Amino acid sequence: MPNPTPNIVVIGAGIGGLTAALQLAHGGARVTVLDSHDAPGGKMRTRPSVAGPVDAGPTVLTLKHVFDTLFHDVGADIADHVTLLPEPILARHFWPDGTQLDLMADPAESLRNIRDVFGGRAAQQFTTFRDQTAQLFDAFDAPMMQSQAPTLAGMTAQVLRNPAMIPAMQSHRTMTRALSRRFSDPRLVQLFGRYATYVGGVPDRSPALLNLISQAEGRGVWHVVGGMHKLAQAIADLATVHGATFHYNTHVTRVETQDGRIAAVQTDAGRIKADAVLFNGDPQALHTGLLGTGVTQAASAQTPRSLSAYVASFASTATGLPLAGHNVIFADDPATEYAPLSRDQMQTDPTLYICAQDRFGGQTPTGPERFELIMNASPTPQTTPDHKEAETCLTIITNRLRSRGLHLDPWPTVADLTMPQDFNTVFPASHGSLYGRSPQGLLAAFKRPTARTPIAGLYLAGGGVHPGAGVPMAALSGQHAGAAMLQDLHLT
Ligand SMILES: Cc1cc2nc3c(=O)[nH]c(=O)nc-3n(C[C@H](O)[C@H](O)[C@H](O)COP(=O)(O)OP(=O)(O)OC[C@H]3O[C@@H](n4cnc5c(N)ncnc54)[C@H](O)[C@@H]3O)c2cc1C
Repeated sequence: MPNPTPNIVVIGAGIGGLTAALQLAHGGARVTVLDSHDAPGGKMRTRPSVAGPVDAGPTVLTLKHVFDTLFHDVGADIADHVTLLPEPILARHFWPDGTQLDLMADPAESLRNIRDVFGGRAAQQFTTFRDQTAQLFDAFDAPMMQSQAPTLAGMTAQVLRNPAMIPAMQSHRTMTRALSRRFSDPRLVQLFGRYATYVGGVPDRSPALLNLISQAEGRGVWHVVGGMHKLAQAIADLATVHGATFHYNTHVTRVETQDGRIAAVQTDAGRIKADAVLFNGDPQALHTGLLGTGVTQAASAQTPRSLSAYVASFASTATGLPLAGHNVIFADDPATEYAPLSRDQMQTDPTLYICAQDRFGGQTPTGPERFELIMNASPTPQTTPDHKEAETCLTIITNRLRSRGLHLDPWPTVADLTMPQDFNTVFPASHGSLYGRSPQGLLAAFKRPTARTPIAGLYLAGGGVHPGAGVPMAALSGQHAGAAMLQDLHLT
């Protein structure tokens, strides 16, 4: 006889944990969410600055419908809980030769801009690329991303039912190879190749299929009024309304099993009995025994690891470059920019991403404004940041921006920087990887763990779990886990 009101412990209030917690509390479970941090959101976090809290994690919100559905499914309207506004400019791109290109929410405007900047041939090539990636995105959405546990056999059957997809997939090529065949201008190869980094890969080692990632952004980018963490807070608040309880500053040290199924979790504040546990941390933490030897088989080794990053969050006055909300300052040499990352070294010629969150919606800030600046990095097993490494990174960033005409007053300092070592500390066992297992390799997508684990009562959600990293994907993984738990616990 199933327990009529099962006790569910959710370890982690990242977007995957929050999504599942909301769904489970709405479904009638007694839900307790535990997180080591002092607020919900996990990677969706902020840091203080003189201009107010500045985003220090994700900034590009895509696939809004995932969140509309999440709120709708619990009888709520997202608009009553958090304000999401569409950004007309998806991103502004700057190349070393002075070329500047805005990709727009309106595809016709993007096409016009590409034609104006790169000519008619590039515009034609973009149209073909956009149509093919749209076809791939739609074909993989239901059987892969929306599916709780996709299989290689199932996907193969899907492809065989639609053989027109096979040439578009270019399964034997890397993203860079496929893009070089599509676009004759290397700047567009560089632009669309960068989307590999959205899931922690590099374009010359990631499968061409990942070119479909650009579609997620191409279908619209939203900004969360007040910062990304407001979305996490809104979901946590709604889960609380449905009866979930949240305990922050609470670290889970062990997940206990009895007779092969989940029995309790041990925290630094005591023991909590559980009928089921959802783990929202990096699955590698379970595999490496950080939560006890009884649950190591919940996930296989999640290696190789995806990229990490150096992230500077700060307030400054900016002059010299006409920044939009989302900006990309490209490396000088697309052929070699990512090579140091494959050797676990710092990039000397990096592409930089700059989020100027006070410019969202076309605003022009006066005085100091908030910036998040991201430079890709290799993962690391270290947990102690190296001051010299931080200084070197800031010198590379400062020189790059100065050489492109952007001046910041003041320039970011070591105190503004989150290093791969910091990420490894805050997200245990992650090696600082921000997107779980590396997406490199054609079958990488099938090597991520799914919601159900081999241990009865233990479930997984988050960016390291199917369908993968990024805020909407991690939210989908939370929905998959929530649905599996409700089903297994005989709740609605
Ligand atoms: C700098 C940066 C930029 C990014 N940019 C974007 C972007 O623009 N767009 C986008 O869509 N995605 C972006 N991402 C990726 C996105 O943020 C993540 O994929 C997503 O937020 C991961 O959510 P998650 O569910 O895996 O939980 P996480 O955010 O990883 O949170 C997991 C939580 O679990 C808690 N936890 C783990 N172990 C324990 C334990 N033992 N006890 C208690 N608590 C525990 C942690 O404290 C943490 O709060 C970015 C990430 C970073 C870091």
